[in-house]
Amino acid sequence: MEEREGEQLSRFTTLKIGGTAKRLCQPQSIDELVALMADLKARNEPWYVIGGGSNLLVSSKGVEGTVIRTAQITKIDQLESNLLEAGAGARLPHLARYAASLGLSGLEFAVGIPGTVGGGVIMNAGAHGSCMADIIDSVTIFDTATGEIATLTNEELEFKYRKSRLDPTIQVVLSARLRLKSDLPETIEAHIRANEEYRWRTQPIGWPNAGSTFKNPDPKKGAGLLLDQAGAKKLAEGKAAVSAVHANFVINMGGATSEEVSKLMKRMQDCVYETFSVRLQPEWKTLGEFTENEREVWKV
Ligand SMILES: Cc1cc2nc3c(=O)[nH]c(=O)nc-3n(C[C@H](O)[C@H](O)[C@H](O)COP(=O)(O)OP(=O)(O)OC[C@H]3O[C@@H](n4cnc5c(N)ncnc54)[C@H](O)[C@@H]3O)c2cc1C
Repeated sequence: MEEREGEQLSRFTTLKIGGTAKRLCQPQSIDELVALMADLKARNEPWYVIGGGSNLLVSSKGVEGTVIRTAQITKIDQLESNLLEAGAGARLPHLARYAASLGLSGLEFAVGIPGTVGGGVIMNAGAHGSCMADIIDSVTIFDTATGEIATLTNEELEFKYRKSRLDPTIQVVLSARLRLKSDLPETIEAHIRANEEYRWRTQPIGWPNAGSTFKNPDPKKGAGLLLDQAGAKKLAEGKAAVSAVHANFVINMGGATSEEVSKLMKRMQDCVYETFSVRLQPEWKTLGEFTENEREVWKV
């Protein structure tokens, strides 16, 4: 297993923000991940698991404890003609393209979501009218509360909008089984291309970001539209700014800190509240040290 001390986490987040981790571990297989989790549990050490770091604001002040990055656990197996099993660190865009190459449809929505299977399950990642809940057959986890490996069915995972029943501070996703449908490769490819083109038109390609900052308050009220109408596109804090392309995207213009991003998020939240009396809730998770002030935006 790859193990380093004092590793800069900005390297591993799509926002390119994050101070040093006391210890970063990158298990190469599910067995190594399970052994690591069992050891951390036995020693009662603090830990945090990350996948693609694409839905995360990591503190610029750094992270105490062990950060586990699953990105090397990428094995994908075809168990039945339309059932794939993927390791927690398999990238969703790669998985979508691999499934397409087998003539399997269902993952086209995920082609522009730069996360992993583990993060996708935790967040119930979704786009273009579909989400992980539509294709998950079952998920195998290591539960640090019991010290056991368990397999949960789709129903047991209780997927909701951008969440599942799993608590990523207790349960670690090891792998997921995905039930897909057979279709013509050219039809699947056409969906993938349409989804990609939509993203190129509507998202700030080229700037470090972490996708949608806030959840949509309801299906008819997109956070991006509310932010845009409230005038959020002109907001910036230091090197962090609201994208001119999509008002729900925060971009790092180079050297932004987590403190600047937290302040900017609070101003975005306030500006929608003042205009529409709607309090937006962040979609992102946080990792590391944040002051009470910085945490303000996450308070319900
Ligand atoms: C350009 C861009 C576009 C995006 N578009 C979308 C979109 O259309 N739809 C959408 O839903 N999201 C989108 N996202 C957000 C993000 O890609 C998804 O939420 C993704 O599922 C996060 O996966 P990750 O592996 O990067 O998770 P991380 O950001 O690494 O972690 C997110 C959470 O999952 C937990 N986690 C990660 N792996 C595991 C594991 N193995 N076990 C337990 N917990 C784990 C972490 O602890 C954390 O709580 C976008 C992001 C970007 C940068």
